[in-house]
Amino acid sequence: MRIGIDLGGTNIAAGLVDDRLHVVDRMSVKTNAPRPMEGIIADMVRMTRELCARNGLSASELDGVGVGVPCTANQQNGCMEDANNLGIDDAPLIGPLSEQLGVPVHFDNDANAAAWGEYVTGGYAEDSFLMMTIGTGIGGGIILDGKIWAGINGAAGEFGHMTLRMGGEPCSCGRRGCFEAMASANALIAQARDAMKDSPDSALWTLCGGDIANVEAKTVFDAAAAGDQTAGALIDAYTTILAEGAANLINIFAPAVLCVGGGVSRAGEALMKPLREKTARLICSKNAKRSTVITAAKLDNDAGIVGAALLGMGRQTT
Ligand SMILES: [Zn+2]
Repeated sequence: MRIGIDLGGTNIAAGLVDDRLHVVDRMSVKTNAPRPMEGIIADMVRMTRELCARNGLSASELDGVGVGVPCTANQQNGCMEDANNLGIDDAPLIGPLSEQLGVPVHFDNDANAAAWGEYVTGGYAEDSFLMMTIGTGIGGGIILDGKIWAGINGAAGEFGHMTLRMGGEPCSCGRRGCFEAMASANALIAQARDAMKDSPDSALWTLCGGDIANVEAKTVFDAAAAGDQTAGALIDAYTTILAEGAANLINIFAPAVLCVGGGVSRAGEALMKPLREKTARLICSKNAKRSTVITAAKLDNDAGIVGAALLGMGRQTT
């Protein structure tokens, strides 16, 4: 049995993962960032012990603990670096956590962990695999030769911060016109709220109960599926931006698989079909005999926890 912990900006989610890679028990607490790292580590220790106790285990019986972190994971010294949304610049995680739990602890960037979890559990035979995780932001994970490619300092795979439009929408990273600022779930929601102001008859208004604050990415896909023109135009524009980003990644990496995960991927073929068609028109290798397969993630909700738990099955960075 392993523990996977997904340290997010809002919640810390922990799960007990069995040998078949199923989450058999879970719990979650608020991250309450910013606060000192010691408090976050204490919560991780407490959740690990409680999950073990609830399932008749002691922490020392665990095969390992893995943590997905929303920042750079420095594998040399076990520190979290540049965790901007937690207000942490540089703080030790692996040392204190493994000392308090008495078991091996591994960690990696959360998008890398999610990509690794999808890659290992999804039955992909290919040795090159990219994952775009589209949620409030856009995360990226790169798997080359069957291993996570983390770069020289653990910071590789920031797909969300490639510039698609110089001088465009401001991004959380301080630049403008990033892929994330234009194609995350939050970007789609902002685009929908903007469009609704000029479309008082749109079904979007009905689906959000008349309150624009209730609009989610799903609301836009639901309205488009019901034939709403405003929502249809939003999805058309949104998948065009997404395809520009996907085509950039394929032109650079030519991976066997480009996998789309995160909340937005739950839209299924309403997202994937236009994304595949538009990306195919944009890539350089239009006449190649083999091309990248673009697919939706299978692991979905548990990607963060399972991916983190699987990090404990061995260091996978090249
Ligand atoms: Zn950015």
